[in-house]
Formats: sequence, C-alpha cells, structure tokens
Amino acid sequence: MAASTATAGAAAGVSVGIVRGFPGAVGNTPLVRLGSLSDKTGCEILAKAEWMNPGGSVKDRAAKYLIMDAEKKGVLKPGGTVVEGTAGNTGIGLAHMCRAKGYKCVIYIPETQSKEKMEALRGLGAEVRPVPAVPYKDEMNYNHQAKRCAEEMENAVWADQFDNPANQLAHYETTGPEILAQAGGKIDAWVAAVGTGGTLAGTSRFLKENVPGIKCFAADPPGASMFAYYTKGEMERSEGGSITEGIGQGRVTGNLATCEGLIDGAFLIPDAETIAMVYNLLHYEGIFVGASSALNMVGAVKTAEAVGAGNTVVSVLCDGAARYQSRLFSKSWLTEKGLFESIPEECRYLITL
Ligand code: PMP
Repeated sequence: MAASTATAGAAAGVSVGIVRGFPGAVGNTPLVRLGSLSDKTGCEILAKAEWMNPGGSVKDRAAKYLIMDAEKKGVLKPGGTVVEGTAGNTGIGLAHMCRAKGYKCVIYIPETQSKEKMEALRGLGAEVRPVPAVPYKDEMNYNHQAKRCAEEMENAVWADQFDNPANQLAHYETTGPEILAQAGGKIDAWVAAVGTGGTLAGTSRFLKENVPGIKCFAADPPGASMFAYYTKGEMERSEGGSITEGIGQGRVTGNLATCEGLIDGAFLIPDAETIAMVYNLLHYEGIFVGASSALNMVGAVKTAEAVGAGNTVVSVLCDGAARYQSRLFSKSWLTEKGLFESIPEECRYLITL
C-alpha cells in the first residue's frame, strides 16, 4: 500500500516523504514559467517561487544555513540568543528557526523598513530594535549595532549574513541544484539582485560550475553600487534612491567575494519599471510579489534581450507583496514617490488602499 502510494505520487510529479519541522520545509520551491514575459521576449522566463518558503522569503534558506553554521562551530549553544541586523526577511527566517530550536532572537532593523515586516518579527517572538537608517560606514548602522550587541550579551551569536559565507553556501547547495534539476539542465542565463549577495553568489557559482556557457547577471536598483562594479569594475553609487527593500548594496560583501569574476554583466533598473512589473505580475500572472521580485523580472526581460530569443532565463521571486501591501498598493504612497503614473492603466484597479 505505502509503496504503491509513493509510486503513484512520484509518477504524478508530487514530492513524497515527510520533512522535519520548519527547517525541513525550507527550499524545494516551484520553478514557475512566466507566460506573459516569455511571450514578450521569445525566451523561456522562469522564476523560483521563493515566497513559498515557510517563512515567506528566499532568506529562509540563508537563515537555516546561518544557524546550522553557528551550531556546527559550537558558538550557538542551547538556550542561546541569535542577534542579527536585517532589512526584515532574514530576521523573519531566523525568528522561525529560533522558535523551532529554542533560541532567543534579537533583530536590529532600519526604521525605514515596512511595518508589516516589523509586525511579523514581533509576532514570531523576536525582540525588534528599530534603528535609524544610516550607511555602513557609520558605527550606528544596524549591522554594527547587532555585532556589538552579540559581543556584549552572554551566550549570544551574531549571524553576520553579509560576510558569513554560510549564506551563499545555502544557494550553492540548494537554490542552484534545484534550478538545474527543475529546468532539466536547459539554462542559458541567470540574473538576481543583490542584498547580501548570497543568492547571486552561491547560485552563480553553482551554475557556472555545472552549466557550460551560462551567463550570470546582477540587477541593481538606483542608489546601489553593483551595477558600476559589474559593468566598469568600479564601486560607484548610481544616482537616486529606490523603493525596493532588502536590496541595494554599496560594498563587496564577504558573500559577493565568493563569486568574484563570475558575473558577466549588470542592469540598472529604474523604480518606474519595477513598480509597473509589480502590477503586471499580479494582473497578467496572478503572482503577488514584492518590489525586489519585480526588479528581478525586469532584469530577466533585459537579460533575455541581451542573450537573444530562444534562450532560457532564470531568476528569483524573493518574497510576497503582503509584506509591503500598505505601501505598494496605496495611492497616496505611490503619488508621494512619484510612481502613480508608472502603473499601467489596465492595472490601476489594483490600487485599493
Ligand atoms: N529581496 C528581498 C525582499 C530581500 O529581503 C533580500 C535580502 N535582504 C533580497 C532580495 C536579496 O537577497 P540576498 O541577501 O541573497 O542578496
């Protein structure tokens, strides 16, 4: 009976077997073909549905690996505390992991981040410490505050997602192999935005090692430096700022350093194109994702144009739009940001707040 059920499940393409708790449920997300973007470009546009992770974002993978790494090194002991600086999603993944494993969780987050992410963190039992959004070079930056807090606290560890290579290892060992298997080996290009750089670095490194001729690209929002870095070899901040959250890097993090020399080019994506894509994905595909996911899809379209029709382009849908609903679907917020006019006419019925 059990064997025949398993055989029937496998034949139907259903993954069979039981996973262990929250950590076991991380990863193995679907690879979704986006019909509207594929039709538009003449390429196969595929995207990992990372909002389907149990904590709701791509960062569940990093959170799991950062905790496993600290346990393996013996620096995180029973009853200990995990401290981290995060734009929210890594914190949410860590908060879930800490609940599952009996650790305490303290999160430093720039106060500019959405209220939905702060509420989610508090709801998961994390102690949330919002701090002013100041640059990395300022010692009051959320990252440095998290490090100091962990140093001063008894039995505490700083997860250090930006520079701890356990982050990119999650993508080297899981995201990359899943994409390769799900695409049946047929991938011509891969593109992703950079927060810590874990997703771009780990996945690019795995794909470069396993897919001959694959091209890897970074997609960058205004105000970040990775576009200049990957196109001119110089760390130079692009003009303006961005509504995107969780991405926009100004230095070569420890994780990005692991894919040095592997990135073939980059795209600078204006917010007007990103916000239009948020709405197009919902209107034409029924896919409800945040701005970094939309920026990645604009990046996938630009990648398709760069590599030419007939190729397969893969990217990531990082998290769901519910995490930003009070902003992305609010008429007054869109107007204040000068983005209302960028929403395609046929999608404006989706502005409901
Ligand atoms: N999108 C969102 C919404 C994120 O929160 C993050 C991580 N901060 C990223 C993209 C970028 O992922 P990574 O840190 O792996 O570069």
